[in-house]
Amino acid sequence: MKNYFTEALEIVRAQASVRTMTEEDIVSMVMKLAEKFRVIGDAGGNAVALEDSDGPIDPRKAIKEKSITCVICGKSFKLITKKHLASHGLTVEEYRKHCDYKKGMPLVCKFLQRERRKKMQDMRLWERRKI
Ligand SMILES: [Zn+2]
Repeated sequence: MKNYFTEALEIVRAQASVRTMTEEDIVSMVMKLAEKFRVIGDAGGNAVALEDSDGPIDPRKAIKEKSITCVICGKSFKLITKKHLASHGLTVEEYRKHCDYKKGMPLVCKFLQRERRKKMQDMRLWERRKI
Protein backbone atom coordinates (compact mmCIF):
# COMPACT_ATOMS: atom_id res chain seq x y z
CA MET A 1 0.00 0.00 0.00
CA LYS A 2 2.91 2.32 0.78
CA ASN A 3 3.93 2.27 -2.85
CA TYR A 4 0.59 3.47 -4.11
CA PHE A 5 0.60 6.36 -1.72
CA THR A 6 4.02 7.52 -2.80
CA GLU A 7 2.99 7.43 -6.43
CA ALA A 8 -0.26 9.22 -5.74
CA LEU A 9 1.55 11.83 -3.72
CA GLU A 10 3.94 12.57 -6.59
CA ILE A 11 1.06 13.20 -8.95
CA VAL A 12 -0.89 15.31 -6.53
CA ARG A 13 2.20 17.33 -5.77
CA ALA A 14 2.59 18.06 -9.49
CA GLN A 15 -1.09 19.03 -9.69
CA ALA A 16 -0.82 21.28 -6.68
CA SER A 17 2.00 23.18 -8.34
CA VAL A 18 -0.14 24.13 -11.32
CA ARG A 19 -3.42 24.85 -9.60
CA THR A 20 -4.78 25.98 -6.31
CA MET A 21 -5.78 23.09 -4.10
CA THR A 22 -6.99 23.11 -0.57
CA GLU A 23 -5.60 20.66 1.92
CA GLU A 24 -8.86 18.77 1.64
CA ASP A 25 -8.56 18.55 -2.13
CA ILE A 26 -5.05 17.21 -1.81
CA VAL A 27 -5.93 14.58 0.76
CA SER A 28 -8.98 13.34 -1.11
CA MET A 29 -7.04 13.25 -4.37
CA VAL A 30 -4.20 11.24 -2.84
CA MET A 31 -6.70 8.80 -1.37
CA LYS A 32 -8.55 8.47 -4.65
CA LEU A 33 -5.40 7.94 -6.68
CA ALA A 34 -3.89 5.51 -4.21
CA GLU A 35 -7.08 3.50 -4.31
CA LYS A 36 -7.02 3.54 -8.11
CA PHE A 37 -3.42 2.35 -8.16
CA ARG A 38 -4.28 -0.37 -5.70
CA VAL A 39 -7.07 -1.59 -7.98
CA ILE A 40 -4.78 -1.47 -11.01
CA GLY A 41 -2.07 -3.24 -9.02
CA ASP A 42 -4.46 -5.91 -7.85
CA ALA A 43 -5.60 -6.45 -11.41
CA GLY A 44 -2.04 -7.49 -12.16
CA GLY A 45 -1.18 -4.55 -14.39
CA ASN A 46 1.66 -2.16 -13.77
CA ALA A 47 0.54 1.23 -12.55
CA VAL A 48 0.69 2.95 -15.90
CA ALA A 49 -2.80 4.35 -16.28
CA LEU A 50 -2.43 7.45 -14.18
CA GLU A 51 -5.11 9.53 -15.86
CA ASP A 52 -8.80 8.87 -15.61
CA SER A 53 -9.40 5.51 -17.30
CA ASP A 54 -9.19 6.79 -20.89
CA GLY A 55 -5.67 8.17 -20.59
CA PRO A 56 -4.47 11.49 -22.02
CA ILE A 57 -7.26 13.73 -23.24
CA ASP A 58 -7.65 13.98 -26.99
CA PRO A 59 -8.27 17.68 -27.74
CA ARG A 60 -10.69 16.73 -30.50
CA LYS A 61 -12.75 14.75 -28.03
CA ALA A 62 -12.45 17.36 -25.30
CA ILE A 63 -15.37 19.35 -26.66
CA LYS A 64 -18.66 17.70 -25.89
CA GLU A 65 -22.28 18.75 -26.12
CA LYS A 66 -22.44 20.15 -22.62
CA SER A 67 -18.82 20.38 -21.56
CA ILE A 68 -15.36 21.25 -22.70
CA THR A 69 -12.46 19.55 -20.98
CA CYS A 70 -9.24 21.34 -20.25
CA VAL A 71 -6.57 19.03 -21.71
CA ILE A 72 -4.02 20.34 -19.22
CA CYS A 73 -5.76 19.44 -15.98
CA GLY A 74 -8.66 17.29 -17.20
CA LYS A 75 -11.34 19.38 -15.54
CA SER A 76 -14.62 19.93 -17.40
CA PHE A 77 -16.26 23.28 -17.92
CA LYS A 78 -19.03 24.91 -19.93
CA LEU A 79 -16.34 27.20 -21.24
CA ILE A 80 -12.64 27.58 -20.60
CA THR A 81 -11.79 31.04 -19.44
CA LYS A 82 -8.67 33.10 -19.95
CA LYS A 83 -8.27 33.10 -16.21
CA HIS A 84 -8.28 29.31 -16.05
CA LEU A 85 -5.66 29.04 -18.77
CA ALA A 86 -3.57 31.65 -17.01
CA SER A 87 -3.46 29.28 -14.03
CA HIS A 88 -1.61 26.88 -16.34
CA GLY A 89 0.59 29.73 -17.57
CA LEU A 90 -1.09 29.72 -20.98
CA THR A 91 -2.89 32.30 -23.10
CA VAL A 92 -5.95 31.35 -25.15
CA GLU A 93 -3.80 31.46 -28.29
CA GLU A 94 -1.18 29.17 -26.79
CA TYR A 95 -3.83 26.76 -25.60
CA ARG A 96 -5.40 26.60 -29.06
CA LYS A 97 -1.99 25.93 -30.55
CA HIS A 98 -1.35 23.26 -27.92
CA CYS A 99 -4.62 21.54 -28.83
CA ASP A 100 -4.29 22.14 -32.55
CA TYR A 101 -7.55 24.07 -32.53
CA LYS A 102 -8.43 26.49 -35.28
CA LYS A 103 -7.55 30.13 -34.80
CA GLY A 104 -10.39 32.04 -33.19
CA MET A 105 -12.22 28.90 -32.14
CA PRO A 106 -14.26 29.61 -29.02
CA LEU A 107 -13.29 27.45 -26.06
CA VAL A 108 -16.86 26.56 -25.18
CA CYS A 109 -18.97 23.41 -25.26
CA LYS A 110 -20.90 22.54 -28.42
CA PHE A 111 -24.15 23.72 -27.00
CA LEU A 112 -22.73 27.17 -26.26
CA GLN A 113 -21.04 27.26 -29.67
CA ARG A 114 -24.44 26.84 -31.29
CA GLU A 115 -26.03 29.42 -29.03
CA ARG A 116 -23.28 31.85 -29.87
CA ARG A 117 -23.67 31.28 -33.57
CA LYS A 118 -27.41 31.82 -33.28
CA LYS A 119 -26.91 35.05 -31.40
CA MET A 120 -24.47 36.29 -34.03
CA GLN A 121 -26.97 35.54 -36.78
CA ASP A 122 -29.69 37.35 -34.89
CA MET A 123 -27.43 40.32 -34.50
CA ARG A 124 -26.65 40.34 -38.19
CA LEU A 125 -30.35 40.24 -39.06
CA TRP A 126 -30.90 43.09 -36.68
CA GLU A 127 -28.15 45.09 -38.32
CA ARG A 128 -29.69 44.53 -41.72
CA ARG A 129 -33.09 45.56 -40.48
CA LYS A 130 -31.71 48.86 -39.22
CA ILE A 131 -30.31 49.71 -42.67
ZN1 LIG B 1 -7.05 23.28 -16.76
